[in-house]
Amino acid sequence: MRNKLIFEHDKPGSESFEAPGPDTPIRRIESLIPSEFLASEPPDLPQVSELDLMRHYTHLSRRNYGVDTNFYPLGSCTMKYNPKINEKTARFPGFSEIHPYSHPDDVQGALELMFALEKTLCEITGMDAFTLQPAAGAHGEFTALLMVKAYFDSLGEEGKKRTRILIPDSAHGTNPASAALGGFETIEIKSDARGNVDLDSLKAALDERAACLMLTMPNTLGLFDENMVEIEKLTHANGTLMYMDGANLNALMGRAKPAELGFDVMHINLHKTFSTPHGGGGPGSGPVGVGKVLEPFLPNPRVTFEDGRFIMKNSPKSIGRVKSFYGNFLVMVRAYTYILSIGGEGIREVSGMAVLNANYMKEKLKGLYELKYDRQCLHEFVLSANRQKERGVTAKDIGKRLLDYGSYAPTTYFPLIVEEALMIEPTETESKETLDQFVSIMITIDEESKLDPEKVKTAPHTTPVKRVDDVAAARKPILKYEKPR
Ligand SMILES: *Cc1c(COP(=O)(O)O)cnc(C)c1O
Repeated sequence: MRNKLIFEHDKPGSESFEAPGPDTPIRRIESLIPSEFLASEPPDLPQVSELDLMRHYTHLSRRNYGVDTNFYPLGSCTMKYNPKINEKTARFPGFSEIHPYSHPDDVQGALELMFALEKTLCEITGMDAFTLQPAAGAHGEFTALLMVKAYFDSLGEEGKKRTRILIPDSAHGTNPASAALGGFETIEIKSDARGNVDLDSLKAALDERAACLMLTMPNTLGLFDENMVEIEKLTHANGTLMYMDGANLNALMGRAKPAELGFDVMHINLHKTFSTPHGGGGPGSGPVGVGKVLEPFLPNPRVTFEDGRFIMKNSPKSIGRVKSFYGNFLVMVRAYTYILSIGGEGIREVSGMAVLNANYMKEKLKGLYELKYDRQCLHEFVLSANRQKERGVTAKDIGKRLLDYGSYAPTTYFPLIVEEALMIEPTETESKETLDQFVSIMITIDEESKLDPEKVKTAPHTTPVKRVDDVAAARKPILKYEKPR
């Protein structure tokens, strides 16, 4: 049975709290607002008793699925555990209660944290400078491409011909979307039989119109490109910049610095690699790091240390502001806490364990499920349900059936170059017991695809909401509650 909506608990006359008396701050604020701006009618909100209200939300919270409850192998998303010490520091009043319009002299600690986080990200990536403004990975990509554009525009007529962004066919959908929003044309680069960038396809696209190559490293197959050195040579020889989609930094940090691989600009997802909670729409943070060439174009303002204090400073060549105020500050506090609490050695251990865990599961599962690119992976790997599909069971069915067994589903049908893709990313925070348990569930589901395919095709059976009709959900969505009259 479906849970009632809070609106369906409406019992006129029920109240959950005493309205504040005439002398409370809210009433005093009300008295300061000119009466023409005050609503004459109270909003049409449900009237619910305190107990009904409490039970409603407590029931909903128990239906929550998250990294704090179960395994979450959602490839490309790095659903690692978010240590609770991050939450503790983010709640320090000196961080959580400051106002974005505060004078820099009054918030030196907060500015110092941003400054230190930028420097730490520079150390981890080898980049020369960072902006912390972008609110997510995709926003970081867009910000970076605006900088790429500003850079080529600054080179005059020759630079203005650079209107194209080269993007491999394995890329995350946000890459071409950011390129289009930035006013560029997108050129697709093919992958070769080993899952690397196809060098002939790259060479064909490298002409005087190629502004930037956007590479995800490791790529969305979880593979490190074996031709990295060659790619860098070819691309830079053509005057084309190199962008790294750094959403997969969890596989590299502490071991390889993107700047040393030849990247000129990159974004990081603090909400993936640096353990700040994500999902359900954020808030995220997608800092962008640059080498010296692009540094003058970073968004305004930037935290700078001058004459013994931290100030916010503008630069004349900047692309301007990309986010209100300074970005999602409390996400930065969480990420910085995480970095300090595990330290340099910890950062290196994270990538080592993330890669080990993914390879362990890949080896256990590749006999039963097809593995298109059978080589050592980094932090994630992509199986295919092609064999199971011959028995009538698709990647989607397997994802749904996993829910019955108490696991979250892997990312399905992405990247597009693997049919019936199941993209699995265990992360470093999971124990061997959890990995083994997931493997045994995947083995069971493969068995079921032979013995009882109907059961898998109609899953999930044990969740509060059973299989939804996705056609109806797309064609006839019910997006709004209508109060019965
Ligand atoms: C998550 C991800 C992005 C986008 O990041 P958001 O924070 O979701 O905008 C881009 N590229 C890759 C490879 C990703 O995994």
